[in-house]
Amino acid sequence: MRLLLTNDDGIRAPGLRALHRAVADLGEIHVVAPWSPQSAAGHSITLHDRMTAERVAVEGIGWGIRVDGRPADCVKLAFRELVGEPIDLVLSGINHGANVGINVLYSGTVAAAAEGAILGARAVAFSQAFGHATVDYAAAARRCRAVLDVLLAGDLAPGRLVAVNLPIQDDGPPAGVRVDRQAVGRIRESYAVQAGEAGRTWYQLTDDYAFEAPAPDTDVGALHDRCISITPLHVDLTDTRRLASLRALPFGDLAL
Ligand code: MN
Repeated sequence: MRLLLTNDDGIRAPGLRALHRAVADLGEIHVVAPWSPQSAAGHSITLHDRMTAERVAVEGIGWGIRVDGRPADCVKLAFRELVGEPIDLVLSGINHGANVGINVLYSGTVAAAAEGAILGARAVAFSQAFGHATVDYAAAARRCRAVLDVLLAGDLAPGRLVAVNLPIQDDGPPAGVRVDRQAVGRIRESYAVQAGEAGRTWYQLTDDYAFEAPAPDTDVGALHDRCISITPLHVDLTDTRRLASLRALPFGDLAL
């Protein structure tokens, strides 16, 4: 099996190193990851600038390829140029921070895995929620591997994407494993506002945020209950429930 490991925290992030160690025996491992932290890059790709890719020694990994692009760029480039197909399994993470609820849409970690699924690989995005204590990535990676083994033996066919989120570690090991849907509740968030020169005002989104009323049967609810959350995702954003009602609208009457 040929594996591609990537992330959005940058090629030297501890989560990538721990994940690499945990899956090293699974096959031929390639690491292609962003040069610099790319959290919240979402599924953006680089169109107007050139990118470079450089083979570098990475502590704890050996060799990897760093790309001065987005997480999705790394996966695209790996498939098309740097590694070559077939790539059987794309693993992204382990991200520093959960990727649940609507944060799934902002996540570079999930986007990198999604790009792998689009290109036909099995794909898993791993994220570790954090609280006050320093994240124990060795423990996180051990849990990711255990979950991955179950996924590989079961659901994870080519082109399928799964998000795995691990609960904060402050209060001990996870209470269980739950498979649930992505929450869509709003986030309570705030901006730090500062007056600058020339009458300019600066805005910066703070990392102090909370999900409004997490539904219990969601990824947010599972993390809230200190469970590992597993969510099957797909890249089809169509709201199929509305196809019929939208088709019933009088578009046929428009003068074109
Ligand atoms: Mn990140």
